[in-house]
Amino acid sequence: MIPISKPAIGEEEVRAATEVLRSGQIAQGRKVEEFEKAFAEYCGTKHAVAVNSGTAALHSALYALGVKQGDEVITSPFSFIATANSIIMTGAKPVFADIEPQTFNIDPEKVLEAATTRAKAVMPVHLYGLCADMKKLNEIAEDNKLLLVEDACQSHGAECGGKRAGALGTVGCFSFYATKNMTTAEGGMVTTGDSQTAERVKAFRHHGQKQRYLHDDLGYNYRMTDVMAAVGIEQLKKLEGFTAKRIANAALYSKLLAGVDGVTAPRMPTGMRHVFHQYTVSVGGGRRDALKDYLQREGVGTAVYYPIPLHLQPWLKQLGYSKGDFPNAEKAAGEVLSLPVHPGVSEQDIGLVCEKIREFYGGA
Ligand SMILES: *Cc1c(COP(=O)(O)O)cnc(C)c1O
Repeated sequence: MIPISKPAIGEEEVRAATEVLRSGQIAQGRKVEEFEKAFAEYCGTKHAVAVNSGTAALHSALYALGVKQGDEVITSPFSFIATANSIIMTGAKPVFADIEPQTFNIDPEKVLEAATTRAKAVMPVHLYGLCADMKKLNEIAEDNKLLLVEDACQSHGAECGGKRAGALGTVGCFSFYATKNMTTAEGGMVTTGDSQTAERVKAFRHHGQKQRYLHDDLGYNYRMTDVMAAVGIEQLKKLEGFTAKRIANAALYSKLLAGVDGVTAPRMPTGMRHVFHQYTVSVGGGRRDALKDYLQREGVGTAVYYPIPLHLQPWLKQLGYSKGDFPNAEKAAGEVLSLPVHPGVSEQDIGLVCEKIREFYGGA
């Protein structure tokens, strides 16, 4: 079986984690600080604050920016549920704006249409490792006095206009979940250029503590451990290597799938660095699930991110949307299929996957 994802953990990570475990200081401490410095430098931001999940990063970032009940946050309906849930956690309301069919990312024009006077922030998702149109979104944010929160949970090292994800808005939010481009098993990071926002995230992850046992705000326990930070430091050193392999794998897929009717390869807008958290094709003709099943039987793991758009999730019925409200997201949910692209996938594997896809379509 060629798995759809596989964490790339080496001896370096094992050694680093073991060292911390033996040191006696295992919760948040010096390793977390070291990881934050290295991650901020990597993204090109002044600050990075580590937390224990991507969801915690999104929640902390929104809270630190003052997003609260009565506010609206405009985001994509074609994402993981955490994107919308983090908004709901603050008491604010997620307002969806449809995606562009080519990139699967939020359409800036639709953001403009969705912006009411209650809109406080825009939260684009850099889906599959490709940045949303941050140039246009920054213009819209500026014109409409909106904060810009990047859900960069799938886009470590992605670039737009020469700048890295995490440095493209007011704050950036990352996940280090096991399947992401780099991992600490569970973990997250908030990046920002604003010192006050960074301080507020730091307080929020630690019960609103300002100085020892003095609490002047709500907070949670969102702290990362030194054990996982030590793993993160090693993963970050390897990230550019992982990314190069993902990009090479994606290029090989696109080359080998070029002649296959029925399968559309992902687009790569100019001025962007796509880091291929996923290599996601569109399968037309209502045959996506059949192709998925066929590949499964032939030993190829694939996945659908995401089969139900957020506005149609039972949990989010409360937002009052219905079928047909976001046609591009709904169409994508029925057509997308992600193929294994992680650094553990070889050229030979990709050759095999593409052969099986050709077979499915009756070719040789
Ligand atoms: C993974 C992910 C999250 C949540 O991250 P966790 O670490 O799982 O909490 C949020 N948004 C997107 C787009 C993600 O892919």
